[in-house]
Formats: sequence, C-alpha cells, structure tokens
Amino acid sequence: MQNIVILGTGGTIAGTGQDPERSWQYKAAQLSVAQLVDAVPELRHVPLEAVQVAQVDSKDMSWAVWRELGRELQKHLAREDVAGVVITHGTDTLDETAYLLHRLVDGDKPVVLTAAMRPATALDADGPGNLRDAVRVVQEAAQRGLGGVVAVLHGRIWAGAQVRKACSSELDAFDGGGKPPLALVDDQGQWSNVVTPWPASGGAGWQVLASPLPRVEIITSHADADGWLVEAALAHARQNGPLKGLVLAGTGHGTLHKGLEAVLAHAAAQGVTIWRSSRVARGGVGSREGDVFAACGDLTPAQARVALVLYLLGV
Ligand code: ASP
Repeated sequence: MQNIVILGTGGTIAGTGQDPERSWQYKAAQLSVAQLVDAVPELRHVPLEAVQVAQVDSKDMSWAVWRELGRELQKHLAREDVAGVVITHGTDTLDETAYLLHRLVDGDKPVVLTAAMRPATALDADGPGNLRDAVRVVQEAAQRGLGGVVAVLHGRIWAGAQVRKACSSELDAFDGGGKPPLALVDDQGQWSNVVTPWPASGGAGWQVLASPLPRVEIITSHADADGWLVEAALAHARQNGPLKGLVLAGTGHGTLHKGLEAVLAHAAAQGVTIWRSSRVARGGVGSREGDVFAACGDLTPAQARVALVLYLLGV
C-alpha cells in the first residue's frame, strides 16, 4: 500500500502566464496534473498516478465537479495498493471542497488538498513546493495511521473542516478561522507542533453526490439590508423551482439587520430552512437560547452552505 493518486481539478497551481515576473497575469487551469507532477524533482521516485478529474478555475466550482471528484476518490481510496490521495485545487473555493470531503470521506486513508497562489510559470511559483509537501503528508499521515481530509499549504497542515482562504494575495494565504494548523511541515517533510487528537472525517459516504443539488443561497447582512434580495429570490422561486435554504452571513456573532429579519420570517414561513453564520473571519457563531435560526459554528458562510445542502439531502 504505497501508491499515491493525485487528482487534478485545475486552479492557479495549474495556471500559466506570459511573463514570469508578472505573476498576477495568468490563466488558471492550463497545465495537466501530470505536468505538475513532472515539474517536481523530489517526486521522481515516488509511486504516483496522476488523474485529471476536471480543469477549472475553482471560482467556477460546481456540484457536477464535486460529483466527479467523489467518484474518483471513492474508486482510488478503495484500492488496496493506494496509501492516500492528493487533490490539486484552486485556492478560491478550497474551503468548500475541503469541508464537503471532510463530511463525506469514509475509511482511514489520508486525503490532502493543495493549491498555489502563484501560477506554475511565475518566478516565485509556490505550487511545486506545496505539491511536494502534500505528497509527503500523505506518506507520513498514512504511516502514522492518520486518515481524514486536510489541506497542505505554505508549510502548514489545516483541518478540512476549518481551512479557509484568509488573504487574497500573499503566499501564506490560509488559516483555520482562529484554530491553529494541525501541524507544520518543513521542506524536508518533517512535522512539528502536531495537534492531538487528529480530526476524523465525517464518513457520510458518496451516495449523496448522486442527488440533485437543492437550491441554497447565501445572504449577507449589512447596513441598509432590508431583505430586498430575499423577496426577489422568493418571487423567482415561485416561477423557477423552490428555494430550499438560506445561509445568512450575519454581522458579529451572526446578528441580522432588523429589516432583513422581518423578511426572513416570511421566507421561513414558506418552508425555507435558514441558518446563521458570520461575515467575521474568526470566532464563528455558537447556539444561544432563543435562537430563531440555527447557528453554523465555525464554518465560513460558503462552508455553511455546503453543510445546509447536506442537511437538506438527509446527511
Ligand atoms: N482563481 C484561482 C482558483 O481558485 C485562484 C487560485 O487557485 O489561487 O482556481
């Protein structure tokens, strides 16, 4: 059991540009995952299989891509000769995919997402180092018996349920919403500051991805928020199919503008399930006595949307 499968989905890690010094001018999702592997000399003697699952800028991530990814993950994780899987991904929606996989992955093998902030053609490309680290983390985690979903970026291992993009420009772009990384990994593959216990994945399985996606939207509370968008969504739903859920990206500890609250009562009465998260980067939203709408804990609004989709599908 020593093979590692690398599933490619696109992203900046597979991006290319004309000018190596202008790393911000590029197109994501251009190189194949096999090309990404070939560019890392340290991986030459590791038994790897590269499989292209999708080729998207992750800002365009979709249920359809997740379904494909789930199918491939299920297939390769079930193989006796496979120690674990690496997924190359864009940074923009990595938090959503990581959280979804955290909920669904079953079994005890490691699944490691990685990405890059600079395209493969940039002078300071971070993709090759991140990919090398991700493969080493699969090897080390498998050896330590640590299964589950993590993300490896810039020398840090983040829990799949906590990881999020926290900076839009720096190489050190991710954090855990106030939670520390699970471990640090150096450029020799050595781990330090390891957190215990290592989080286990949810184990819900892949069946849910075969279901059609229930419509769940995110609404932000802000100055002057009066529920206009919610009313528009309800009117649209009457013609085009049901709105099943709303995730609120509230202020502070998940609080809402009073103008929005009034309209949300109307939505709830029409059968829309409503959950509360926060637009604040750290601290999350805990349950409190008298809550009208359920609190989403530490999840980002986008992760909370994934959680609500799963809930509506019975997971
Ligand atoms: N737009 C890119 C993506 O998410 C950004 C990145 O990968 O850094 O695919």
